[in-house]
Amino acid sequence: MSELERTSDRTPAMPAWEYAPAPESKNVVRLRDRYELFIGGRFVEPKNGRYLPTIDPSSEEVLAEVAEAGAEDVDLAVTAARDAWTSAWRGLPGAERAKYLYRIARALQERAREFAVLESMNGGKPIKESRDVDIPLAASHFFYYAGWADKLDYAFPGRRPGPIGVAGQVIPWNFPLLMAAWKLAPALATGNTSVLKPAETTPLTALLLAEVIQEAELPEGVVNIVTGAAETGAALVNAEVDKVAFTGSTEVGKQIQRTLAGTGKRLTLELGGKAANIVFDDAPLDQAVEGVVNGIFFNQGHVCCAGSRLLVQEPIFEPLLEKLKARLQTLRVGAPLDKNTDIGAINSEAQLRKIEELVAAGVEEGAEIYQPACDLPARGFWFRPTLFTGVSQSHRIAQEEIFGPVLSILTFRTPEEAVEKANNTPYGLSAGVWTEKGSRILWMAQRMEAGVVWANTFNRFDPASPFGGYKESGFGREGGLQGLEPYLELDGAR
Ligand code: NDP
Repeated sequence: MSELERTSDRTPAMPAWEYAPAPESKNVVRLRDRYELFIGGRFVEPKNGRYLPTIDPSSEEVLAEVAEAGAEDVDLAVTAARDAWTSAWRGLPGAERAKYLYRIARALQERAREFAVLESMNGGKPIKESRDVDIPLAASHFFYYAGWADKLDYAFPGRRPGPIGVAGQVIPWNFPLLMAAWKLAPALATGNTSVLKPAETTPLTALLLAEVIQEAELPEGVVNIVTGAAETGAALVNAEVDKVAFTGSTEVGKQIQRTLAGTGKRLTLELGGKAANIVFDDAPLDQAVEGVVNGIFFNQGHVCCAGSRLLVQEPIFEPLLEKLKARLQTLRVGAPLDKNTDIGAINSEAQLRKIEELVAAGVEEGAEIYQPACDLPARGFWFRPTLFTGVSQSHRIAQEEIFGPVLSILTFRTPEEAVEKANNTPYGLSAGVWTEKGSRILWMAQRMEAGVVWANTFNRFDPASPFGGYKESGFGREGGLQGLEPYLELDGAR
């Protein structure tokens, strides 16, 4: 038995008090055996004839096979986007563009259940999250940016905002539909066309969105979706696009930045994070515990802004830890489609191995692990919610993005020390502060090197609010008025 397994079994399970199964039906989803590329308004076969399987990570069952676009397909998609831009989209008045965005938003609402079930099947996330967070937020992004489409002159008074051209957009697997919405809605609202590359493991909701786009009768080629793996993403970055928008790992983000240097293509990067969630001794503890749990276990911790480093003020360390451990025992890990599930499947085997490696490094480096005893399904990719105490700042689990349900807990004495520890990371995407003093919230927020600082809450998103990073978490903002800017020439349309 490994050291990890031995230490995991120390805490007995809570007395059995089981929820009855409450599975959401899969019948609402109609899977095809095979999915093609969406280019120029049509579903077309890839030129190379290659397809990749896509699975349900909770069962490892193959759901479908999906086209793998090669460079030739990517070029066709970019040409379709360019033609659509010059012949149709660029010249359309903002109010007309808005009509299409409203149509997409309404269709997402009408088909919300279908999208939510498919998202959970393909990505492993709990249905209550895809149903209550991912899909409604995706729809609200389209609604929100539809509202800006005819008001760009007012958004940037005294300037002459106009579109850039064709955007190449590469998205990750943690919020597949939502990230597609974050990319497409501002690009289309501002008069650009797009070629979107979903992640290899989670292409299905983007392809369902392609159906919605067809039904909304967007001019052909305004949105193109090229599925595939890393090579497809690289081909898109290298293609004749005017702007690249990327969300994913810092490593690939740096690679893209190097590739684009000197090309004149515009670039925005939304990369990794290692957020500090800071709890002061005057915070309401039960509320803070809920925020900490939401901060790290939401979406299995596959969240770039996850509160993965908990900083606790020393006097409340023991009581907070006790409450946190008790709360962890009540988290239900299991079938993503069960409406009672809190923690679903890890998105892929590769991601599970990465989490296991970093957790093993935490144990090896001397941190103390805590995992509630809970049964994990026999098939699929799973990881128990995990806490580490006795973490020092130099530990890998305090430095590296784990992107899984793993929380590293550190302590601090003074606000100055909290700031120093919170900022001691190459990342700077988000942070959380828990205290009852408004003045302390402002004092902390001014000193956090983070794009977003949440106060007495965590992981709160709104399309009207800009989101993005400092330092190695990237640059450029998505959401809000600020999210329009990366898609605009502000001093004269091209
Ligand atoms: P990647 O950065 O590799 O993937 C993000 C997207 O970029 C995917 O669509 C991917 O395609 C594509 N891609 C991969 N390589 C290239 C390339 N050279 N040029 C252009 N596009 C490319 O993230 P991973 O999925 O590998 O995850 C690795 C780690 O990254 C995670 O463990 C996590 O720490 C972090 N991560 C952070 C995210 C965030 O939102 N900040 C999101 C996802 C991951 P494909 O998936 O098909 O390979």
